[in-house]
Amino acid sequence: RQNTPLSPLTPDEQVLVDAVSNTTIDQWSYYYTHGYHLAGTNLSMAQWTADRWGENGFDSSVVSYYVFLNYPVNKSLSLTYANGSVFQPSLEEAVLDVDETTSYPNRVPTFHGYSASGSAEAEYVYVGRGQQVDFDRLKELGVPLEGKIALARYGGPFRGLKVKNAQESGMIGAVIFTDTQDDGNVTEANGYAAYPDGPARNPSSVQRGSVQFLSTYPGDPTTPGYPSKEDSPRADRHQVMPRIPSIPISYVDAIPILAALDGYGTDGEAVNRTRWVGALNVSYSTGPAPGAKISMSNLMDDVYTPIWNSIGIINGTNSDETIIIGNHRDAWIVGGAADPNSGSSIMVELSKAFGKLLAQGWKPSRNIVLASWDAEEYGLVGSTEWVEEYIPWLTETAVSYLNIDVGASGPFPYIDATPELHTIATDVMKKVNWMDTNRNMYNVWYEYAGGSIGVLGSGSDYTAFVHNGVGAIDMSSNPGDTDPVYHYHSNFDSYHWMTTYGDPGFLAHKSMTHYLALLAYNLAGPERIQFNLPNWAKQMDTYYDDLMLTINSTSDTLDTSALRSALDEFASSTTQVQALDDQAVAAQDAALTRLVNHKYRDFQRGFVSQGGLPNREFYKHIIFAPGLDTGYAPTTFPGITEAFEAGNLTLAAEYVRKTVDAILVAANILKT
Ligand code: GLU
Ligand code: CA
Ligand code: ZN
Ligand code: ZN
Repeated sequence: RQNTPLSPLTPDEQVLVDAVSNTTIDQWSYYYTHGYHLAGTNLSMAQWTADRWGENGFDSSVVSYYVFLNYPVNKSLSLTYANGSVFQPSLEEAVLDVDETTSYPNRVPTFHGYSASGSAEAEYVYVGRGQQVDFDRLKELGVPLEGKIALARYGGPFRGLKVKNAQESGMIGAVIFTDTQDDGNVTEANGYAAYPDGPARNPSSVQRGSVQFLSTYPGDPTTPGYPSKEDSPRADRHQVMPRIPSIPISYVDAIPILAALDGYGTDGEAVNRTRWVGALNVSYSTGPAPGAKISMSNLMDDVYTPIWNSIGIINGTNSDETIIIGNHRDAWIVGGAADPNSGSSIMVELSKAFGKLLAQGWKPSRNIVLASWDAEEYGLVGSTEWVEEYIPWLTETAVSYLNIDVGASGPFPYIDATPELHTIATDVMKKVNWMDTNRNMYNVWYEYAGGSIGVLGSGSDYTAFVHNGVGAIDMSSNPGDTDPVYHYHSNFDSYHWMTTYGDPGFLAHKSMTHYLALLAYNLAGPERIQFNLPNWAKQMDTYYDDLMLTINSTSDTLDTSALRSALDEFASSTTQVQALDDQAVAAQDAALTRLVNHKYRDFQRGFVSQGGLPNREFYKHIIFAPGLDTGYAPTTFPGITEAFEAGNLTLAAEYVRKTVDAILVAANILKT
């Protein structure tokens, strides 16, 4: 396995691979990283993207939605010590000539998308990564939370959940800081120079980002479940958005604020929670420190405004089968070289490669749709609204959704995917010469990711697809522990950083373009859909084992025998459909292939449970979902697992039934 050679390419695949050039990818990256692309401000980039795809043979257009967003107006933050002296953090990032941001006077300040306007003045408490378990621990320790301000570190759960948990604990404001512990080995403390002089984190860097409560639903907070048009009715947004103000800060700004808690409350070591103690030179004590107060204010401009998705289409010979390839285009900052412009540049180059095939008269079996989404950063808004508009057509025709977001921020490929795609996803890796090393991507991926494909949680635009029963893959290429630090959602995610540190020569970009293009080609081109259904049964067995571990680690019991039987029934349906597929191939029976294709296209709609998961109707995939208190990381059999973990055995039993029903619907679609 370790040194499998590169798999040979078919002539069509060779055309795709040869069309990809790191020189043109560099040009696209330069274009995208030199302009405004905050959500709702990037119409010219939407049009440019559609124009490039159009030149390459895709039927392209820009479509708009009318959504709720908010933009930063001003903010303040200061720390007053008990003796009356004041620490005034800078709150803004250094502006570097090399980043070429000086020519953009409307640079986006540091702020939280969808944050609440308001002010707060109070003593404050360090809350670790801000998960419910962290707050539970603080309550157990008797640390007062009510009326205090939360100081949380980044990492772990989605940042909006940190604010949500603080709010639900009666806290009145939140400050979230970056901790260099999450930077791997490449830190100034370990002797590396900071960006721009070296690969370590620039000390002033701040992670912007949305604080929407994504665990309820993504998309426009005012149109749950339906598309946002100018005249759409608007729901109350306050359930999914914070009511307390929040501000993101850098680690240099955080140090004095953390240090003022040293010796007050419970010492960080004694708190004894995952990643409570970070890498900064403080005790990570809980506080509060009597008399030490944070004063903060945050003013946002709440608006309804257009956003723009670019859509490009090639029609396939089978008009009832569609592959969608998407990435977002909006960024928090002028640069956004990795997030999302590595993905955006890869998509333009991919369209160029497909243009070469089209010019030779190639026509895919399936429709191919390219999408460049707006407002992903606020909460997957562009993709969710589009899915909500086209759900009938997607339910009829969608076969797979391929997502790329941070396509290249370092040299290690990584994928999460629904199980039917695992085999094709790894087979295609064997065709990719990784970063011109003559090692295939599969070997590099295997070494880095340990040969395991992640379960999709949330955090990017595949979410609305998955929760409407469309299987998906999400791909990225990331830094390892000894690679230059990627400045996520910071001004330093610039073209200069990318060309100097992140991906000099755009070689990871090039390989990821090869990968995405070859995967799309193999999914959309041939008459036969190359899915592996028995792998679904295999993966679900591991989810079942995890559920048993969860149950057996408690004194509670739950009858899962019906789930076990449903899984066995499902497994036998996958064996049947695989046999039919093999038979169609052996007999070269086109009609039989069409039949199998449609089973493959449709089975996953069965996993969609109408009514969704408890208290979150949007999340309908009954097999996996983002964890309620993680936002990013997935939970499997989420309805059952989360109800059981919450001690609600009646609800857990109800979700055993719902899960069984859904699995049997999927099995029936596959059965022959
Ligand atoms: N990718 C963005 C983030 O992590 C948006 C995630 C989301 O809204 O799900 O901040
Ligand atoms: Ca909506
Ligand atoms: Zn992104
Ligand atoms: Zn992002």
